[in-house]
Amino acid sequence: MLRIALPNKGRLADEARELFTDAGLDIRARGERALTASLGDIFEAIFVRAQDIPEFVADGAADAGITGADLVAESDRELETLADLGFGRCRLAVAATDESGIVEVRSIPAGARVATSFPRLTQAFFAAANQRIEVVPVSGAAEIAPHLGIADVIVDLVSTGSTLRVNGLHEVATVLESSARMVVAANRTCAESARALDDLVAALQSVLRARTQRYLMANVPRSRLADVRRVLPGLNGPTVVDIMNSGRHVAVHAVVPAAEVYRIVGELKSLEAEGILVTRIERLMP
Ligand code: AMP
Repeated sequence: MLRIALPNKGRLADEARELFTDAGLDIRARGERALTASLGDIFEAIFVRAQDIPEFVADGAADAGITGADLVAESDRELETLADLGFGRCRLAVAATDESGIVEVRSIPAGARVATSFPRLTQAFFAAANQRIEVVPVSGAAEIAPHLGIADVIVDLVSTGSTLRVNGLHEVATVLESSARMVVAANRTCAESARALDDLVAALQSVLRARTQRYLMANVPRSRLADVRRVLPGLNGPTVVDIMNSGRHVAVHAVVPAAEVYRIVGELKSLEAEGILVTRIERLMP
């Protein structure tokens, strides 16, 4: 059994759970507040705080974990990233109050108090910028610190930016771009578990890849095939299939980016395509 540490709550938890389910690894929890769950035949999930996952994986309490790149970097543990899973995208940013007039890091005064739950990354960022600051550690809600008079500046995660805006703060610089990562201990040695985890990563990535693509089928006049090929590049060009009892039309199948379906359908219609069908893809392994 390989143990995978998954976030027990918050933004990453729901998306991680959905990703495993879509990859055919349904998380079968033992009760609502279960700390462990079965995850297929060879994996077991343990649900812990996203902040603790780097530690658990580095110490070998879990064979792999899914958590934010921000937390991996802050932990400073010896971890190897197997995959960027793309969800939970955010940035760790330096932000100042609107009335401070600060628009760049250089104008943050020496000795400024910086509230953050990322003390290590914050120290490293300001040290690299040759700025002397004082870190005020908080465990969350850093955006309140300037209003309480305990800090002048904050370093916090930003996604849409609305939390900063409603608190009268604005971004000054980006410390780190983050998203959910699958991590393992850098010093792992077991070849068998490495293979199983590589297979798991491949399965998760096939689901992520499939989400951005659609499978498109249409019947088109044989005489328009050259034009259809230009509209439907697909992964390796469209598959063209003869239709029984129809000499004039052929069926074309192709994998197309979801974001381009609307345009492609319009162009196919102008080429007299009929019976256009667009479906989701569960997994895609090119
Ligand atoms: P937003 O208002 O969308 O910019 O979100 C900012 C708030 O959500 C801050 O309190 C952040 O700490 C938190 N947040 C945003 N994105 C993430 C993330 N990917 N992981 C954890 N917390 C996040």
